[in-house]
Amino acid sequence: MADTISSDRRSKIMSHIKSKDTSIEMMVRRRLFAMGYRYRVNYKALPGKPDIVFTKKKIAIFIHGCYWHGHDCGSRYAHTSQSNRAYWGPKIERTKQRDQEHIQKLEANGWKVIVLWECEIKNHLELTIADLIEKIEN
Ligand SMILES: [Zn+2]
Repeated sequence: MADTISSDRRSKIMSHIKSKDTSIEMMVRRRLFAMGYRYRVNYKALPGKPDIVFTKKKIAIFIHGCYWHGHDCGSRYAHTSQSNRAYWGPKIERTKQRDQEHIQKLEANGWKVIVLWECEIKNHLELTIADLIEKIEN
């Protein structure tokens, strides 16, 4: 099949999707902050640079976009065309693999790891936050 999307266009698509990831991260961060939680963000000292970190409690939270992190949820956020999947598939697989490695390293070092997905945040924000608080507090 011919490659009809230029690499310039692809990187535009990619940065657009990445900025969506950032906005779901902000939805969660704002909520936690409003509830009085204080945390580190994009914490570089830990594997995978977790999006939200509670250092004293040793809790690392990752907020993943369904598309780039290969969430097998069947939501519209994970959806892609056949040709996009053929093109980005290997990259998405590598991302998934790395995500798993980061989680394993963190857990091996006594960190509690929580992964929040785009589909959960966008479809059930209140429930996702309530569930998250429960995990943070227990
Ligand atoms: Zn999902």
